[in-house]
Amino acid sequence: MTTMVHLFGGDATTSERSKELLGGKGSNLAEMASIGLPVPPGFTITTDVCAAYYANGEQFPAGLIEEVAAGIAHIEGITGKTFGDAADPLLVSVRSGARVSMPGMMDTVLNLGLNDRTVVGLSDASGDPRFAWDSYRRFVQMYADVVMGLDHAEFEEALEIAKEDRGFYLDTEMSAEDWQALVKEYQAIVERETGAPFPQEPNDQLWGAVGAVFASWESDRAKVYRRLNSIPAEWGTAVNIQAMVFGNMGDTSATGVAFTRDPATGERAWYGEWLINAQGEDVVAGIRTPQYLTKVAREKAGAKPLSMEEAMPETFEELGRVFDTLETHYRDMQDIEFTVERGTLWMLQTRSGKRTAKAALKIAVDMAAEGLITEEEAVGRVDPGALDQLLHPTLDPDAPRDVLTKGLPASPGAASGKIMFTADGAEKAAEMGEAVILVRVETSPEDIHGMHAAKGILTARGGMTSHAAVVARGMGRPCVSGAGGLSIDGNARVLRVGGRELREGDILTLDGSTGEVMAGEVKTLLPELVGDFGTLMVWADKVRRMKVRANAETPQDAQVARDFGAEGIGLCRTEHMFFDAARITAVREMILAENEAGRRAALAKLLPEQRGDFAAIFGVMAGLPVTIRLLDPPLHEFLPTREEDFADVAAAAGVGIEALKARANELHEFNPMLGHRGCRLGVTYPEIYEMQARAIFEAACDVAAETGAAPIPEVMIPLVATRREFDLMKAVVDAQAKAVFDEKGREIAYLVGTMIELPRAALMAGEIAETAEFFSFGTNDLTQTTIGISRDDAGRFLTQYVDKGIFLTDPFVSLDVEGVGQLIEIAADRGRKARPDVKLGICGEHGGDAPSIHFCEKTGLDYVSASPYRVPIARLAAAQAALKKGK
Ligand code: PEP
Ligand code: MG
Repeated sequence: MTTMVHLFGGDATTSERSKELLGGKGSNLAEMASIGLPVPPGFTITTDVCAAYYANGEQFPAGLIEEVAAGIAHIEGITGKTFGDAADPLLVSVRSGARVSMPGMMDTVLNLGLNDRTVVGLSDASGDPRFAWDSYRRFVQMYADVVMGLDHAEFEEALEIAKEDRGFYLDTEMSAEDWQALVKEYQAIVERETGAPFPQEPNDQLWGAVGAVFASWESDRAKVYRRLNSIPAEWGTAVNIQAMVFGNMGDTSATGVAFTRDPATGERAWYGEWLINAQGEDVVAGIRTPQYLTKVAREKAGAKPLSMEEAMPETFEELGRVFDTLETHYRDMQDIEFTVERGTLWMLQTRSGKRTAKAALKIAVDMAAEGLITEEEAVGRVDPGALDQLLHPTLDPDAPRDVLTKGLPASPGAASGKIMFTADGAEKAAEMGEAVILVRVETSPEDIHGMHAAKGILTARGGMTSHAAVVARGMGRPCVSGAGGLSIDGNARVLRVGGRELREGDILTLDGSTGEVMAGEVKTLLPELVGDFGTLMVWADKVRRMKVRANAETPQDAQVARDFGAEGIGLCRTEHMFFDAARITAVREMILAENEAGRRAALAKLLPEQRGDFAAIFGVMAGLPVTIRLLDPPLHEFLPTREEDFADVAAAAGVGIEALKARANELHEFNPMLGHRGCRLGVTYPEIYEMQARAIFEAACDVAAETGAAPIPEVMIPLVATRREFDLMKAVVDAQAKAVFDEKGREIAYLVGTMIELPRAALMAGEIAETAEFFSFGTNDLTQTTIGISRDDAGRFLTQYVDKGIFLTDPFVSLDVEGVGQLIEIAADRGRKARPDVKLGICGEHGGDAPSIHFCEKTGLDYVSASPYRVPIARLAAAQAALKKGK
């Protein structure tokens, strides 16, 4: 390890390494200082130290004490104050800062260095005893909470009682003496709870806080956030130690948070909240209602308290200049924290601001238009996964709605679901497949799992930068915050609003774009790719190499996919086509038939239906490739399982109940996913695949004759393990093609290929490609067969596997590049050696997952296929992957 401590304004740069080492917050503070912005002096303990701390059995590495002491001396030199000095003490903040911002996850201690002696010095030096004692009580409470792990409710209760005893309502009514008395009480609580007096030695306080920052990296809520965001545990956090500046030194002091553009809409307008005479945490904690930054915003909201623009015009102008400097320097929208101490502006933080998908698109497109970034950079600026929030239905403006109240439009999108009042309740209900709206007075980091499980989040308190708002925007969950008209009784599990009562389980609809809260479910509309979204997609398509197809099995799905820009169908599953009431009987007749002739008779009934299915899809996908997979699931899936259904089914299929039960019994398998399914059905009952192939070619010829646009069928054989299996099935398909083309007097170009879903198929790909014209990686099955974890049962234990770091992410969501990825690479290589133009695609769920798409680009696949609503995500991710590979 080199130096463990880096001074702000020193040698830090914008490099990735600097972010890795100093964390996001630390490297940005260092950088702001180096471009001449007003940053209180300070230093960062690197993330390497955190890693070493854990590697050392939670011991600080040798030499750290000396380096930190030198850092403190550096701050003392600039401020002219001394740490622990009884006359004019230096106070510091201690804050965590990981490589990527983890909102609300890590802990902060302010005013560190105060003790029974230095508080008097602070009082004298500031000439404001009330401020000094207020700062001290805040410090004791924060330190007790964050460092000592005591319950903050006890301290809040003591404050409430202190106010009640004095007949006060607001904190501002408390005098210096009142705060001083409360500090004594707080210290007594600490002593009672820990058995030791509150630490008086500033250095002890400092090391306690540093240890607490490191410990919070391994807190449960940080672990959950890391799991949800795929952040490796090894990264660790940095610790930032910085001279305190005070926003609570009277009416010329203030504190605030701001975005250089509107994080909800992306509009180019300064956006933020501030409070006069307050300390940083007051703005985000939702205790006092923050005020507007600009006059326009205040007037628009019809709010009374003056905006910063009106109350502190000069400082506001300076802040505006800082915004411009930051945007030009970082070339991105910034999220900042600032403090004004007696008229002097200080920057406490800047980072790339979290934004809604809508804002991300607008900011990227606008910044390209402003010449701040290039079109390609704009393409790289939008997180493909975040587009999900725009690709879901919004409320139909014409649908009737029963509006209960209105809150702040904290995170856009609409959602309906059952009311749940606790995060655990929301998680449980979601696991049962319920759509849930999490309803809380306000949220805290402890609620994060419930927020993730919910379709939407509603809070009674908190502003646009409250925890709920920030986290919901990051997750893409619709959120209405600060709905003051609600009264929530979490214990009784009721919500009261405008004289009405709703209980847990009642349906609620939220519109995060307007802030409306409605009773019952409201009709929704499908999204469209217009405006900035459309523009960015055009730019993305310019740089994209891989094609993007859709997994679709109905004409409706196919149309949605086309509207979202799909360039064909990568997987048309055929099994669901057989569940239609009119068809399932014929399917069952086929399954129950005693011989081939019986099966053929039943299949003949299915042929026209199946031909109609394909014709409709070919019509939508005119001129584009359509990959149709022949029947895949084990046949027992088509038979009834419930006792009460047997009689009806038997009657419909023309057999006795006993015969039906006997057949169901015969078809029972211990491991159906490894059983009689996929091409194994085609091998034993070739007439099934014959019928399907005939339906495909008849439909293709008919559509070509009608429209003049010949479809491009790609017939896909599932679950192949050996070349011989494939060859047998290909012969069936080719024979039908020839027969149909002869009958129709027309030829259609088509391909026959296979899914690669089994490790053996991947390894034998060279041989299989001698006859197979394309491979489509069925990574759902390939993941299950490679890892040997059932895709249907994995949910029960996979979260633990991710928590324990066995998998970085769920391998059924994001491709296991190391393991399953190797098989894909081997198959692609061997396949291409045998057949240089073998077409390669992916049709497992991973085809819509951005990191997996990067892998596909790296491996040189020709296309990815995703579910229709994920097609735009796949287009953008494929473009970003191409840009990355190009670099
Ligand atoms: C797959 O296995 O990846 C696949 C696409 O097929 P299915 O999900 O239908 O098994
Ligand atoms: Mg499969």
